[in-house]
Amino acid sequence: MSQIKSINPYSGEILKEFQLLTENQVQEKLQKGEKAYQKWKTSPFSEKSKLMHKAAEELRENKEHYAKIISLEMGKIIKESVSEVEKCAWVCEYYADNAEEFLKPEPISLPDGKNAKLLHQPIGTVLAVMPWNFPFWQVFRFAAPTLMAGNTGLLKHASNVPQCALAIEEVFTKAGFPEGVFQSLLIDSKTTTAIIENPIIKAVTLTGSEKAGAAVASAAGKHIKKSLLELGGSDPFIILEDADIEEASKTAAKARMINFGQSCIAAKRFIIQDTVYDQFLEIFSNEIKNLKAGEPLDENADYACMARPDLAQELYEQIQESVDKGAKVLLGGKAPEKGSAKISPTILTDIPKDSPAYSEELFGPVAIVFRVKSADEAIQIANDSEFGLGSSLWTKNQEKAEALASRIESGAVFINSLVASNPHLPFGGIKKSGYGRELSRHGILEFVNTKTVYLG
Ligand code: NDP
Repeated sequence: MSQIKSINPYSGEILKEFQLLTENQVQEKLQKGEKAYQKWKTSPFSEKSKLMHKAAEELRENKEHYAKIISLEMGKIIKESVSEVEKCAWVCEYYADNAEEFLKPEPISLPDGKNAKLLHQPIGTVLAVMPWNFPFWQVFRFAAPTLMAGNTGLLKHASNVPQCALAIEEVFTKAGFPEGVFQSLLIDSKTTTAIIENPIIKAVTLTGSEKAGAAVASAAGKHIKKSLLELGGSDPFIILEDADIEEASKTAAKARMINFGQSCIAAKRFIIQDTVYDQFLEIFSNEIKNLKAGEPLDENADYACMARPDLAQELYEQIQESVDKGAKVLLGGKAPEKGSAKISPTILTDIPKDSPAYSEELFGPVAIVFRVKSADEAIQIANDSEFGLGSSLWTKNQEKAEALASRIESGAVFINSLVASNPHLPFGGIKKSGYGRELSRHGILEFVNTKTVYLG
């Protein structure tokens, strides 16, 4: 493969074609990243912060322009793309304002009267392997802290979003970042694992599937380089009988359908106490039925299509296999047309343990619903998963909620709320959802050298 295509998944139209970089071009970009690092690492926080604010301004002022690129290239409805671009501006501002404080030297007083201090210093060029589902947000939540820490960034974006990759580089260029501080590489996955061994690359972060995560982390491990993995999830959404059922059920529909279900932190498994199960199903299925389908640029649409036809087909196969094993279809369940990325929202109940719906991630608009007798059974099902990213728990009893939250195996529990990423809160998973944390102070500390200086 020497070319990648930008294709509108809704219409199938080829929007643009790009040549992949040659080996020499890749080497040049790596050198450029290293050269830029030698200056950027000592550039004062005030300068870095000024440029990061400029990047935020560029995003806000041209949000419709960038949103349109996202929607046309991966099928997200335009209002969600606009929010995504705004959120990117938010994370730029957050780190522009807080990075210096997060990274300031930390004094340590020792019991023998001696002192030490911790410095948080940049490490060099960091490679980011990123997915198509939030093609701007996933990149900015890596780039804002990484660049503010004094590192330089290289982006290998998913092959179906090359226009987004180039547009993101353009944001940093327009903001005035020195050449080489942030670069997009149009390369395939084989080249990606190969360049990890280059000494210029000091660490790697990946958001995507388990398979991609394992390949990239293995390559990094082989060359003793740090990796951070943000992989899939099958987040539970637990509603207990003492919850506000109406609010919980309406939020549940939103939590499943955001980004047409293609989100790692979308609620995927709905675990409902039996006394409120019927009420939940009625409200939840009505909410989903009432969503309006449309094309990606339709301002009034609630959803359009998945990001690629193969993803819709794969999702349908998971539905079909689960139904063959005994799952019941409450809504949708229809096969996508051949070669189409459009699929109907689906609700499955009575999920057999040996079905894909029980154990695999359903990365699209498919909800699976479980009926449980008690909070204990809800926690047991919630934890019966290889994943552990987010989780949502609904009950009006705060004390009970906090006690149950501590028993859920996940990187985050949101009580009486849907799970959402926020620059102020650490984000990441356990188990097969990955390791390491993005966002907040924890995120910026992932790619720095925390150096102990002992003052003898
Ligand atoms: P992938 O995980 O394959 O893609 C994510 C990124 O990893 C892309 O940039 C991709 O590049 C790259 N990549 C893939 N394989 C390798 C490899 N062996 N070495 C180096 N880089 C690699 O996602 P898919 O698009 O195939 O989606 C499949 C499934 O992944 C989804 O259905 C979902 O379950 C999960 N996923 C999870 C996401 C999340 O937010 N956690 C986001 C996206 C997907 P390229 O495009 O060139 O292959």
